Amino acid sequence: MKLPAPNTWPAELDERQSVLLVDDDAASVQVLARMLGGLGELRFALSGEDALRLARESPPDLILVDAEMPGLSGFEVCAALHADPRLADVPVIIITGHTEVAVEVAGFAAGASDFIRKPPVAEVVVARVRTQLRLKALADALRASALTDGMTGLANRRRFDQDLRVECERARRSHESLALLLVDVDHFKRYNDRYGHVAGDACLRQIGAAIRACIRRPADLAARYGGEEFAVLLPQTDAAGASAMAQRIVDAVTALALPHADSPLGGACSVSVGWAAARPDQDAAVVDSHGEALVEMADRRLYLAKAAGRGRVGEALEAHAGV
Ligand code: GH3
Ligand code: MG
Ligand code: MG
Ligand code: MG
Repeated sequence: MKLPAPNTWPAELDERQSVLLVDDDAASVQVLARMLGGLGELRFALSGEDALRLARESPPDLILVDAEMPGLSGFEVCAALHADPRLADVPVIIITGHTEVAVEVAGFAAGASDFIRKPPVAEVVVARVRTQLRLKALADALRASALTDGMTGLANRRRFDQDLRVECERARRSHESLALLLVDVDHFKRYNDRYGHVAGDACLRQIGAAIRACIRRPADLAARYGGEEFAVLLPQTDAAGASAMAQRIVDAVTALALPHADSPLGGACSVSVGWAAARPDQDAAVVDSHGEALVEMADRRLYLAKAAGRGRVGEALEAHAGV
């Protein structure tokens, strides 16, 4: 049988991908590290417990784990990783001296992606690691694109809805306030009618970038909510913070000075913003919600901003203050 030369194998690997090597025998870890030299960024653990700790601190792109270790076995490490939502997507290669089918089946059942036989052979280790890293990079890119709005590069609606639920639960547990903004471009139908949809798309991209530039904290999320509407999620933010951020966004879009000759508001693009802030553990209106109640409150204020003349923040007219 004619075999392809190893150097014709496909795929350049991303050197920033990280690989965690786990074996109770330090010499075995060194052997693997030498074989993998140059493939990703290597980290090491000498027990299953240490491996889980390191993985939780900073999730690697691939884990190679010895099947037999005192304490947690490779199979148990694999099962623990798959039970942790943050680590469930990390591929695991189990290294074992066993050749029985039952052992392999048990490994796959625990969530392993592949096996390497002991004693390891350099070319086989490199090939299997390359394959898993390539698949991981592809899966990461697909996961990211499934949560990104293609036109603006902001988070998409799916990501926003997911984060809203998560942040609402987090705020409930930590007894903190959660805030949310809805941003709607004013008279945008007229913009498209005058300048065309291609220019309309470019305009939305600029407004999206301006909104993203307004948010400051790593946990804040700017998203395209749909059409010419954007949403911003602000964890650990109260009513005063939400209202200030809303005004900052109105001002930032005004500062772009994007011409809109058919807007009755001074010939430039503007946005109206509605906001809401609440304590999910306390405020009656949001206690039983996953965040939908916050969206409804922000929507009411957005309507107020539109009714009051657009190009502004909707302020509190509701009876229940602080909401
Ligand atoms: P208002 O100030 O009341 O918000 O007026 P409006 O014209 O912005 O509101 P309306 O809901 O009537 O129209 C929204 C417009 O946004 C109509 C739609 O064609 C446009 N739009 C929605 N999504 C996109 C998009 O992705 N690209 C472009 N170019 N236009 C879009
Ligand atoms: Mg061992
Ligand atoms: Mg709209
Ligand atoms: Mg609009």
